[in-house]
Amino acid sequence: MATDSYDVLILGGGNAGFGVTVPTRKAGLKVALVEDRDLGGTCPNRGCTPKKVLVAAGHALHEIRQAHVHGISVSKPCLDWSKLIDREKALIKGIPERLAGTLADRGVDVIRDSARFVGSNTVKVGDRVIEAEHIVIATGSRPRPLPIPGAELMITSDQLLSERQRPGSALFVGGGVIALEFGHVYARAGTKVTILEVLPRLLPALDADAVAEIKAESEAIGIAVHTAVKVLRVERTDGMLRTVFEANGKEHAIETDRVVNGAGRIANVDRLYLDKGGVKHDGFRITVDDFLRSTSNPAVFVCGDALTGVPQLSPIATYEGHIVGDNIVDGPKHRPDYASLPSAVYTVPALASVGLTEAQAKEQGFNTKVSVNHMEDWFSARTYAETRAYAKVIVDANSDLILGAHMVGHGAEELINIFALAKAHRITATAIRDFIFAYPSFASDIKHML
Ligand SMILES: Cc1cc2nc3c(=O)[nH]c(=O)nc-3n(C[C@H](O)[C@H](O)[C@H](O)COP(=O)(O)OP(=O)(O)OC[C@H]3O[C@@H](n4cnc5c(N)ncnc54)[C@H](O)[C@@H]3O)c2cc1C
Repeated sequence: MATDSYDVLILGGGNAGFGVTVPTRKAGLKVALVEDRDLGGTCPNRGCTPKKVLVAAGHALHEIRQAHVHGISVSKPCLDWSKLIDREKALIKGIPERLAGTLADRGVDVIRDSARFVGSNTVKVGDRVIEAEHIVIATGSRPRPLPIPGAELMITSDQLLSERQRPGSALFVGGGVIALEFGHVYARAGTKVTILEVLPRLLPALDADAVAEIKAESEAIGIAVHTAVKVLRVERTDGMLRTVFEANGKEHAIETDRVVNGAGRIANVDRLYLDKGGVKHDGFRITVDDFLRSTSNPAVFVCGDALTGVPQLSPIATYEGHIVGDNIVDGPKHRPDYASLPSAVYTVPALASVGLTEAQAKEQGFNTKVSVNHMEDWFSARTYAETRAYAKVIVDANSDLILGAHMVGHGAEELINIFALAKAHRITATAIRDFIFAYPSFASDIKHML
């Protein structure tokens, strides 16, 4: 069996793996990347990018629904779902091939197969054994399997992005990002949507009041949301699926065309033979130090969705990939800092956040100044007939710095980047208030949000 040797071997060709290639190749290291599916990984092929195409259609439907406010009469819109899926597929077509070109330009060797550890510095890929001074686990995540009878009847976001027929009704098990984002598009297109969440509220990691706003908007467009319920099983009935769940000590059942697993994602590390690599783990969680390096095998780093306990988001995966690459090149010096990374839930309208929630800021003992604004009656919100416009900004009263911002509507997915920039570069609330924004724009309302 042939043994090849590299300075750096990256397992996984998604955002995280690509991030690692930048500093390592810049430093002239010999780098190989192993990928067993599509180069680019989840985000461009079956995540953020194709999903946003569907979300854009949801936006268009929302605008059409509000058109009467502007004096525009339109007949009831009809979304041809198969055409939308065709558009989505056309927009992402060719991405893996383009990214193969990027890696070739960067001088990275690409190996198309599945990888697993055979030693602390060796990995088996197909019939090759590859030795590397540094091995990076960037293998991403997959939908969390649900341990309930009938789990195999559920579909995942992968199928949702490919099915050319829109279901008449869909039930999401789990009230996280997948359920809300796809639920909003479906509901706006005419699908009857139900969300079942085991916890007392949706999106538990996000600010409770902002989540309450998006829950209210979801219900206003016809989505049925049940929280604090336990899904017991999924059964096949006459051409439909019956989801049986427990709420308030009683069994209930809902029949739908589709049941979607929206119960979050788990790290893709359980098939890597981590024990053979001397990589300490407890099933799906690899133990890493502050530099994203395995605590038991210093040759191994972890980044992206494969890393547990950090939000599974595409810019975070890229960022961690760069940090790992820098640590390989410079030695363990670089620590990730997640404090100013913005994120959005692409409902229509979107919910976007950066930094601490109000509860976290209080727990951490900050002397907070919290500004809460329901902006539906502000001029800019009324101009665009916004159905929901909410902002909560948390400022440290001692330093005047932004601790967190949470918005629904009002261009939240764009404006959040301004708050993130201010937070990252320590721009005070007073300096933002004094800044001159183009007027009238949603951004010019930031002054009043503070
Ligand atoms: C439907 C959906 C929508 C999303 N929307 C957003 C969004 O709007 N914004 C956002 O920021 N994030 C979004 N995300 C999350 C985002 O896609 C991920 O956080 C990001 O893609 C993670 O990148 P990664 O490199 O860690 O993993 P991945 O992109 O998953 O890459 C890992 C790669 O490793 C490969 N691999 C796995 N095991 C092996 C092995 N043993 N050998 C060889 N190769 C292997 C996989 O095939 C995969 O290509 C979304 C995710 C989903 C599922």
